[in-house]
Amino acid sequence: MALIRFDIMTLFPELCDTILAESIIGRARKADLVEVHCHNIRDYSKDKFRRVDDTPYGGGKGMLMKPDPICDCYDAITDGEAEKPYTVYMSPKGALFTQKKAKELSEKERIVILCGHYEGVDQRAIDAIVDEEISIGDYVLTGGELPACVLADAVSRLVPGVLASPECYEKESLTDGLLEYPQYTRPFEFRGETVPEVLISGHHEKIEAWRTEMARKLTKEKRPDLLDGSEKGT
Ligand code: SAM
Repeated sequence: MALIRFDIMTLFPELCDTILAESIIGRARKADLVEVHCHNIRDYSKDKFRRVDDTPYGGGKGMLMKPDPICDCYDAITDGEAEKPYTVYMSPKGALFTQKKAKELSEKERIVILCGHYEGVDQRAIDAIVDEEISIGDYVLTGGELPACVLADAVSRLVPGVLASPECYEKESLTDGLLEYPQYTRPFEFRGETVPEVLISGHHEKIEAWRTEMARKLTKEKRPDLLDGSEKGT
């Protein structure tokens, strides 16, 4: 049995399935560490034209996703379960997605993700099934599919066994409140630029000290908001 299961409710299941079938997450799915099931909300429309959207009450431009196909889809995928899975609605109105939130979600066994489209989703569907609204940034996309893939990717790579070793994420950007130090690989010299000497010194303490110093410097330059008060002025 996989360590985590995602059920993505969307009007474009192939989009999510394709993105999440490649590379590390694709391999994790094949190895049965992560399960991803993409459900087409349109399959739950009772309308003879399979419509899933309608105009908003009170007027306004655009179309809204109707609540009934969403809730019927949700009922079908959670059928018979005493405990409802944690359910997230990808929304620009949600709290900003962070590495901390990814870590928290990676400890769940199952996550249902609702993707909106058009002008969004009838509020009653959100009230009925959603535990948390999450935004991937302060901008508006056409649909929740890319945000759902961002969330599933960031969460899955924290699931034990998905990456080669926990060290891969324990020391990277944002995990400990700092951006990652600069990294280098072969060749030693590239277009006249060489790798910092300390990295070939073989002196582990010096390398660690250099990395910590560089991580602080980079964070101060690029993301001073991440540093606590004591570091800002240094
Ligand atoms: N009318 C909505 C509003 O003003 O909040 C925006 C709807 S947006 C065009 C359509 C769908 O894209 C949303 O229902 C949501 O699922 C998704 N979406 C758009 N931007 C997003 C973001 N920054 N983070 C997460 N989901 C987003």
